[in-house]
Amino acid sequence: MNINENFLTLQKNYLFSEVQKRKEAYLKKHPDADVISLGIGDVTLPLAPVVIEAMHHGVDEMADKKSFHGYGEEQGYLFLRDAIRKYYEKKNVTLENAEIFISDGAKSDLGNMLDIFSIDNTIIIPDPVYPVYVDINQMAGRKIIFIHGTKENGFLPMPQEDLNGDIVYLCSPNNPTGAAYNRKQLQAWVDWANDHSAIIFYDAAYEAFLTQAYPSSIYEIEGAKQCAIEFCSLSKTAGFTGVRCGYTIVPLALEKDHVLLHDLWLRRQSTKFNGVSYIVQRGAQAVFTPVGQQQIQEAITYYLENTEMITKTLKDLGIWHIGGKISPYIWMACPKGFTSWEFFDYLLDKCQIVGTPGAGFGKQGEGYFRLSAFQDHDKVYEAMLRMIAHLGF
Ligand code: PLP
Repeated sequence: MNINENFLTLQKNYLFSEVQKRKEAYLKKHPDADVISLGIGDVTLPLAPVVIEAMHHGVDEMADKKSFHGYGEEQGYLFLRDAIRKYYEKKNVTLENAEIFISDGAKSDLGNMLDIFSIDNTIIIPDPVYPVYVDINQMAGRKIIFIHGTKENGFLPMPQEDLNGDIVYLCSPNNPTGAAYNRKQLQAWVDWANDHSAIIFYDAAYEAFLTQAYPSSIYEIEGAKQCAIEFCSLSKTAGFTGVRCGYTIVPLALEKDHVLLHDLWLRRQSTKFNGVSYIVQRGAQAVFTPVGQQQIQEAITYYLENTEMITKTLKDLGIWHIGGKISPYIWMACPKGFTSWEFFDYLLDKCQIVGTPGAGFGKQGEGYFRLSAFQDHDKVYEAMLRMIAHLGF
């Protein structure tokens, strides 16, 4: 028996486990501390009423022999895939129901999708970025090339002429920086991918936060169906982090040497995945109804009000930052010359605020820090008062 030694090359703890560990250690020492978390990007508002109602109804159906559901349809129930297809129609993106696969969230599919790609592929990953992209490829021992997000390029790396690789991960709006690619920039990525026979893994987990000035799906870009797979999630869109539902789009036009990637993914999913529960899929369907859209928009607006409070405070403190407005994350430069983890400790110790060190998202994140707007208004307000008290010069 041999273990997969690639696991030994990983950092000991996943970033958010380390953040949690340090928070718990602090609380052990200071049990009465009122710690405010602006760290892990987990939603705080409950599910939309229309979602709750749909899930209750689903439970009732499961209680009756006549409407009970066992194993579901392979790619997810048609009622949900059709609702998603219509949601894309509003973005002027035409999809077929067959191109949509319902998942238990974007994280699983981002990792699982690699099953259908050779271990020899070279992976291009922006730095800083959602750390999962790096870890899932490192676990498999794939070669990774990092492209740098910097202050100068607005933390939105673009393909340079000499860039070569097989799969590139793009995340827009980006976690952790909150920066989003515009149409022209995404077109450049799609053109590069088509020219290089590369595939774009497009992570649209935060698309619901975008305004219409930005493309919210890669398929709004010409040529994307020939080179891109899109991953999306209801976690941040509709507060589904604890419910678990997302979807992945694999276009029927996407092929490599006459093999449809869609067929490989279907084969993989029908072998290794038995779908998302009927009740959850009914809840997810409700998100895409007009009432559902209105209710989730209220929650998104609530979180964006938090980003306003945070960015206003940072501006008043004269601290460089981007993000917010079209994203639930704010990316700030660490003040006072702190490294990311030093600032994490300082903020926890002096202000009892937990954030996420930029260095945890990649080398280029060193010296930066991520604040999440997934929190209650009064807690963010209190956190900002504490920051003003301790970071005012
Ligand atoms: N993609 C990005 C960029 C994320 O930030 C997250 C969660 O934080 C995910 C995917 C995971 O989403 P899910 O909860 O659907 O697995």
